Amino acid sequence: MIVVVSGPGGVGKGTIVAALIESDPQLWLSRSWTTRERRPSEPADSYVFVDTAAFEKRIADGGFIEWTEFLGNYYGSPTPEPHSGHDTVFEIEVDGAQQVKQAHPDAMLLFILPPSRAEQERRLRGRGDPGDKVMARLKKAEVEEPIGRQLADHVVVNDQLDETVAEMLEIITAARGRTVK
Ligand code: 5GP
Repeated sequence: MIVVVSGPGGVGKGTIVAALIESDPQLWLSRSWTTRERRPSEPADSYVFVDTAAFEKRIADGGFIEWTEFLGNYYGSPTPEPHSGHDTVFEIEVDGAQQVKQAHPDAMLLFILPPSRAEQERRLRGRGDPGDKVMARLKKAEVEEPIGRQLADHVVVNDQLDETVAEMLEIITAARGRTVK
């Protein structure tokens, strides 16, 4: 099964996905490539950090299941090797989510929303992004939200992290039960 976790920036996707992977050993997280600079607070393995030439070469080689340009940088998910016995999780923005759904209509899209714009802004600022980047991400979120809601199999509001993770694990477990082996 393919599980796509999407939602606007600052909604807590990264934290949620880390908790999902920790709790459910059947989940395997796809590691994305990006041309964005690494944030000082960010672990070196949170992305494969590459330059534009390397990213564009991989596009030309057909090596991404999806890729997009997001606020001036490339982001993409390498075409995964099949991991037998595992469900692949992609943590990506909505344009990529749309591409994965098109290529794999049976992929399940969980779209996460913040409890409020104010809380989302607080989380984005807490991450240490400069003010102009925070504003750009909030503006982008207004475009992403209606598209994500429309595409989503489930919309989850991330108010309390533990509850959000528990709700998503339940959704994933129920979907496994419906998947024909
Ligand atoms: P950030 O710069 O905050 O790490 O990520 C910016 C946005 O790009 C987030 O919404 C994140 O989920 C998304 N993203 C991360 N990796 C990928 C990817 O491989 N493909 C796509 N389409 N989006 C990604």
